[in-house]
Amino acid sequence: MHIHCIPAGPLATNAYLITDSGRGEALLVDAPHGVWEDIEPILQRENCRLVALLITHGHWDHTGDAARIQNLGVPLYAHEADRLFIEHPEVMGMFTIPGITLEPARLVHPVAQGDHLHLLGMRIEVRHVPGHCPGNVLFYFAALDAAFVGDALFNGGIGRYDLPGGSLEMLERSIRTQIYTLPANTAVYPGHGPETTVGDEMASNPYVPA
Ligand SMILES: [Zn+2]
Repeated sequence: MHIHCIPAGPLATNAYLITDSGRGEALLVDAPHGVWEDIEPILQRENCRLVALLITHGHWDHTGDAARIQNLGVPLYAHEADRLFIEHPEVMGMFTIPGITLEPARLVHPVAQGDHLHLLGMRIEVRHVPGHCPGNVLFYFAALDAAFVGDALFNGGIGRYDLPGGSLEMLERSIRTQIYTLPANTAVYPGHGPETTVGDEMASNPYVPA
C-alpha cells in the first residue's frame, strides 16, 4: 500500500492517491484541477484501477477534476451538506481565480458521520468535521493509521472559517471531538501543506489546543 501526496491546481491542493498493487486497485482523496494528468501514469506504473473518489469537501480547489474522473466511471463519495458545491460549483465562483473552469459533478454516494466504506480491503470510517465547509468530512483508515481531513486541520494551523457556511466555534468543536479523539499516532493528511499527526497537533497547534 502506497500513499502518494500529489499537490495540484492553482492553490496546490493536496490530492492523495492510495494504491494497492497487490489488489490492482487505487482510490483518490480529492481531485484538484489537473490531478488526473499526474495520477494516470502512477496508476499505469503500479497497474492499478481507480475504484473510488473520496471528496473531503466541496470547495472548488478540491473538486476541479471530479467531474472528469467521475465520467470515467469512478464512484464519487462526499457529504450531503456539500451537494450544492459539488453539483453547482458556480455558487463559489466569487472565491475562485480568473480563468478557472468549474465542471459540475454529481453526488451519487452521499456519506455521513459514522458511515463505514469498504474499499481496497480496508474499513474506512467517515467523520463529519464542519466549520471550514458545511460538508467537510475526514476519512479515517485505521489499517493505515491515517486520516485525510480536508481543510479542517493543517500542520500547525486550522482551516478558514470565514467562507460560506463556516464557523470557528464549529471548527474547534469538530477538531476536538472528531480529530483529537483519534489515536495520537494517526497521521493527519491535510488538504494543503505537509502532513502531521494527531498527537503533534494536540501538543502544539496554536489555534486549537487540546
Ligand atoms: Zn476548502
